Amino acid sequence: MKEMSLVTKIWKHFCLVNKHRWYVFKLSIKAGIPWRGFLHDLSKYSWTEFSESVKYYNGKKSPIYLCRQDKGYSLSWIHHKGRNKHHFEYWEDLDLKHRFPVFLPYKYIVEAVCDKIAAGMVYEGEKWDQTEPLRYWNNIEKKNVVLKHPASIAFMDIVLKKIADEGIDSGLKPKFLKSVYKKVSEEFM
Ligand SMILES: [Zn+2]
Repeated sequence: MKEMSLVTKIWKHFCLVNKHRWYVFKLSIKAGIPWRGFLHDLSKYSWTEFSESVKYYNGKKSPIYLCRQDKGYSLSWIHHKGRNKHHFEYWEDLDLKHRFPVFLPYKYIVEAVCDKIAAGMVYEGEKWDQTEPLRYWNNIEKKNVVLKHPASIAFMDIVLKKIADEGIDSGLKPKFLKSVYKKVSEEFM
């Protein structure tokens, strides 16, 4: 197959970011955090993140993953996780001896839920269904090496299970999300 031209890669990556942000925005309105949805992932338009993602764009796999395969690390991700509070990586404090995960504030953990749903929808397309976010969480994200506070884990477990069982509309109801946040805060904090 012919290699994509640079202009095509720029355009396609730009559209992909916009599509992801649009999905997150729509979900964030349902979830009652529209402003977080509006601001979601804006750093993806910065030079550090945009240029690396264009260089490694192939339309199938995440450019961050492909860059790591090539160089062993991704400067785009380092830039991204340090600025975007909806990522568990942002909330991992480090000192010389310890790694300490912090429970995500309410608006950021709800943004994280919207992010996960939207990312699945964009990557899976037609194949996406409401059980996908829970499957991705259980099979990949929950088990990865990033430390997560037990309350953050419990929040994701409960909310993504609700979405898998009853759909996005029930799982993203602000009243439900707030009650889960309160419950896990009382249990783990
Ligand atoms: Zn992000």
